[in-house]
Amino acid sequence: MASALWHGFADMGAVEKNGAFVVSRGEGAYIWDSQDNRYLDATAGLWFTNVGHGRTEIADAVAAQLSKIAHFSNFGDFVPETTQALAERLAKIAPVAGSKIFFTSGGSDSVDTAAKLARRYWHEVGQPDKNIIVGRQKAYHGMHVAGTALAGIPVNREGYGELMADAATVGWDDAKSLLELIEKVGANKIAAFFAEPIIGAGGVYLPPEGYLAEVRDICREHDILFVVDEVVTGFGRIGGEWFASTRFDLQPDMMTTAKGLTSGYVPMGAVFIAPRVAEPFYNGAWWRHGYTYGGHAGAAAAAMANLDILERENLLAESKRLEASLHTHLQPLAEHPRVSEVRSGLGAVAAVQLADPAEALPFVKTLREHGISGRAAGQGAMQISPTFVMTDDQVAEMAAGILAALG
Ligand code: PMP
Repeated sequence: MASALWHGFADMGAVEKNGAFVVSRGEGAYIWDSQDNRYLDATAGLWFTNVGHGRTEIADAVAAQLSKIAHFSNFGDFVPETTQALAERLAKIAPVAGSKIFFTSGGSDSVDTAAKLARRYWHEVGQPDKNIIVGRQKAYHGMHVAGTALAGIPVNREGYGELMADAATVGWDDAKSLLELIEKVGANKIAAFFAEPIIGAGGVYLPPEGYLAEVRDICREHDILFVVDEVVTGFGRIGGEWFASTRFDLQPDMMTTAKGLTSGYVPMGAVFIAPRVAEPFYNGAWWRHGYTYGGHAGAAAAAMANLDILERENLLAESKRLEASLHTHLQPLAEHPRVSEVRSGLGAVAAVQLADPAEALPFVKTLREHGISGRAAGQGAMQISPTFVMTDDQVAEMAAGILAALG
């Protein structure tokens, strides 16, 4: 059926031919399509529905805020009351004490905000040659220009010419390659190093033991800003903690977030900025940067209600339970001949790696026939990133569905 909608990341010829998968409602760990078929949601939308679908409490909080005032501005000295309250609340759970919160409209905004601020910071402190921004192979940092340039998925960069000067890429799992780059170009040329604690959209790859602490220390020793992209891992997805930065004591100079901040009920992102980086901008310099909808009051109300639920229902502990549960139920799938590897054991994320990446898209359709809504990431990795309210029985149901779909 022809549709006016141009989907993101899609072969539109195929979507036009086969039709779209139209989602009409959700409840907890389930979603329903427009024919009222029910599916277990293996991915929490695009990794974001941390508190589960159908939370009327968040909808009510947003409605109440919109009725009061939908939004105004946080440029200059303006700020909606709820936005201000949210910033104070986030600062209290920030991995670095005294962090400042800069609101955005989503993850890509957060990444580009952090990339711009990294360079601007060095200009302010008299080191304008520190411009290179380093990312990693397999990394995904959103779709704005800086994020596309510093991510490690070459196919996403093709066909645009040079997106951003002074972007560099190192290995995703090997701190030595960061050191080699520093030796080659000089720390006095490098502004920042960006890392996702768990490679997400690039295929769900867990960090090797000790890797994150190692790159943290390398950045410290060489005076390179350490930017931790927690768009996926933040707000509990890492398991047991608010952030991977707290779980692994990463002390990030900047931390980018979105998704779980509102559980995706409305779009919002935030960059957590350590006092050191904020300092020049609180003492004379001002930053000509901001988004109309950054800190949107309705989104802030959604975030407040979402944080209430995460706290009240101990959902960070539930995410830790899922870390173990996913590992237990999914690892046996690694025995299947069509599966080359199952990556699990850190946070409420996992991947079932298909041996033949070309099977990924047809496999997503087969999964649906078995009552599971899934999606492929990286090269044929079936992304597993459920809501924290998914029960152990539902995890078992999901694993059985995947096994049945594997045939
Ligand atoms: N950074 C990471 C690590 C992400 O996974 C994503 C989105 N999947 C983004 C940034 C971009 O976020 P958004 O799609 O909200 O712009």
